[in-house]
Amino acid sequence: ARKLDIAQLRSDFPILQTQVYGKPLVYLDNAATTQKPSAVIQAMNDYYTQYNSNIHRGVHYLSQKATAEYELVRKKVQGFINAEHLHEVIFTKGTTESINLVASCFGRKFLRPGNSIIVSAMEHHSNIVPWQMACEEHGAELRVAPMNEKGELLLEEFERMLDETVKLVSVTYVSNTLGTVNPVKEMIELAHGQGIPVLVDAAQAIQHMPVDVQELDADFLAFSGHKMYGPTGIGVLYGKEKWLQQIPPYQGGGDMIKTVTFEKTTYNDLPLKFEAGTPAIAEGIGLGAAIDYLQHLGMANIAETEAQLLAYTTEALQEVKGLRFIGEAESKAASISFLVGNTHPFDVGEILDKHGIAVRTGHHCTEPIMHYYGIPGTVRASLAFYNTTEEIDKLVAAIQKAAMLLS
Ligand code: PMP
Repeated sequence: ARKLDIAQLRSDFPILQTQVYGKPLVYLDNAATTQKPSAVIQAMNDYYTQYNSNIHRGVHYLSQKATAEYELVRKKVQGFINAEHLHEVIFTKGTTESINLVASCFGRKFLRPGNSIIVSAMEHHSNIVPWQMACEEHGAELRVAPMNEKGELLLEEFERMLDETVKLVSVTYVSNTLGTVNPVKEMIELAHGQGIPVLVDAAQAIQHMPVDVQELDADFLAFSGHKMYGPTGIGVLYGKEKWLQQIPPYQGGGDMIKTVTFEKTTYNDLPLKFEAGTPAIAEGIGLGAAIDYLQHLGMANIAETEAQLLAYTTEALQEVKGLRFIGEAESKAASISFLVGNTHPFDVGEILDKHGIAVRTGHHCTEPIMHYYGIPGTVRASLAFYNTTEEIDKLVAAIQKAAMLLS
């Protein structure tokens, strides 16, 4: 892997040249959403200024051009995650909708009273609540694979839970709060050993490392465009053909049908079976530009660059007196949660903000993790390849100041 030229790359992101409160923006809230390179903004602008049109049914030039550009993005996604078939790539609004789709449709087809679904102790609410809803609807039980104090899943415990009641495992690849990179490939192997399919929430993985659905042998994989330098409002559900064929459609409407009469409707083939209504066309095209951008940098190079920055940040934060990391897994990606002495995360976040430093505070949509540690929330600094060691030095200095002010 090659180290990326960060100073050069930063100029691709207009917002990184801006200031807040008269100070250069230090953006360390990348797990919530990443900033967008000009190429993404430009691609969306081009669509609206040059070929804005609805897709899939148009006879005219603009519609055909828009359809071709949008469908080309499906091809880019297929290549990016190495899906075997193009029609295994379903466009959604984002990770949340992707997981809701599977919970709803897989649930209707396969969940019965007495069945169970397994999630992990470190899931985002969007990988908990849809399963709770499906379980409630079908009389099934939601079970939780436990973790240790370091924020690592207990694989042996997980393996023991894989009994004949389990219909599906849904697990996050990377924890947005703890930064833990879970051994999803091993977990999938274990689950498949019992004939159980696995959904991988890749919302915090796809932007940090190469993700290969065939290598993982994932049955479903979900992610959001806006966390991988693309627009909001667009995301992906990858599903193995054999599952997408078997489960019923999600929403009804245009595009997802073959023929409609008042008596009977026949559904469209994959992937359109799951894509009712006019999609987020501009956003899809923006996602395509984001994928081009990432592939140009190289995901392995991004992973290497971020690993070095993560190591630098972890070491620098260790120097802060009274700082306690929440999540100390051996294998981590770019999210770092911590608490400083007895200070409240929100107070620290507010002081950092006044220095132009954007971090997130609170439960990060993972309340069960907060309950596990018995804490109200954390301060979370989440990194992207465009962050610099100088920015980390500013973060550390500002935390020192906050600690002094608040003690
Ligand atoms: N899962 C994880 C691990 C996440 O970090 C997030 C976003 N914070 C989501 C799911 C939900 O993603 P979205 O809000 O883009 O649908």
